[in-house]
Amino acid sequence: MKLPFFPPDLFADEHAELLDTVRRVGTDPAQRFILGERTAAFEAALREHTGAADVVACSSGTSGLILVLRAMDVGPGDEVVVPAFGCAPLAASVIAVGATPVFADVHPWTMTVEPYEVEQAVSGRTAALMPAHMFSVMADMPAMRELANRHDVRLVEDSAVAQGGVLDGIPAGRWGEAGVFSFVQVKTFGTVGEGGVVITDDPELGRLARMLRNHGQPPGRRFEHHLVGYNSRFDEITADVQLRRLPGLAARLARRADIADYYTARFQEVVERGVQPPPPGREGRCHYVYSLLAERRDDLRAHLAERGIGSHVYYPTPLPAQQAFAPYARAGRHWPHAELACARTLALPIYPHLTDAEVEAVADAVCSFPGGAR
Ligand SMILES: *Cc1c(COP(=O)(O)O)cnc(C)c1O
Repeated sequence: MKLPFFPPDLFADEHAELLDTVRRVGTDPAQRFILGERTAAFEAALREHTGAADVVACSSGTSGLILVLRAMDVGPGDEVVVPAFGCAPLAASVIAVGATPVFADVHPWTMTVEPYEVEQAVSGRTAALMPAHMFSVMADMPAMRELANRHDVRLVEDSAVAQGGVLDGIPAGRWGEAGVFSFVQVKTFGTVGEGGVVITDDPELGRLARMLRNHGQPPGRRFEHHLVGYNSRFDEITADVQLRRLPGLAARLARRADIADYYTARFQEVVERGVQPPPPGREGRCHYVYSLLAERRDDLRAHLAERGIGSHVYYPTPLPAQQAFAPYARAGRHWPHAELACARTLALPIYPHLTDAEVEAVADAVCSFPGGAR
């Protein structure tokens, strides 16, 4: 058995369609390769799919976060509360607009940001809260909404990994005043390159994000720069690929959810051996990554590798402990749950084209881990 964590065959059954896309876009008499009619159709399809008032395609999820923060006029002197555990864009996007990230610790099991930690991090300079959905669990968005309202600050939802998740009947991406999705290859709606969207119910935020993604130009007004913007445009080939793959997304997400349910049911027997699966259920869930918490994580990882099963550590280091972000971290503060998550988290393969036999083999391998004290 050889199961890599990052599968090389994500698009193996779509080669003909991919070549067809390249041919059609490449030979289209319009010769329009960015922000053309395919991008517009993709935005419309995602508006329909999510029910959001506006969807703005841009060059990546990271770029989407920057566009949202800029559209909200977050900048120098402002603070944005972000999780201490997560990926670099959470801190980097805030710093990119000239604001300061303030790191809040996470819940030890869900690894999403703790509301009471967020509340403690709020100050007179706070401009926005930016929680992120993590791996397979959505952040506590009702609490975030309440905190943002009570402290009169903006709410940005980093839903880069959570497309398709639903909490209290509200889809991921629509809890914040604006959210983002990422289409980088490994994400649940990953593609053959880079891309992302801003998703919002606020027409003004949508209008500003649309201008900012193309050098601050209002649509159709070339060389009129109303804002200092960015090059964060969307590619027509990617739009064509994503338009074609959108109808299959629900089935792929459902397959991921089924695999997660199976793993979680099987892993109840290893809890006493120090291996904790994520919380069960489907409410407020997304299935980007299936992450266990293991007391002897590195031993479990080696145990799986011996059986040909790839795994991955997201993330080995808390954000405020990273060299790049440490200068922004409040002195004397600690993030013990983020540190614990970094030491214990281990992600298993959960991509939708795994066969039932492969899923069983992964579960068998985890369940044969002897565990025990460190
Ligand atoms: C992937 C990811 C991003 C960034 O998306 P890119 O498209 O890679 O820039 C942002 N936030 C989270 C939580 C992510 O997982």
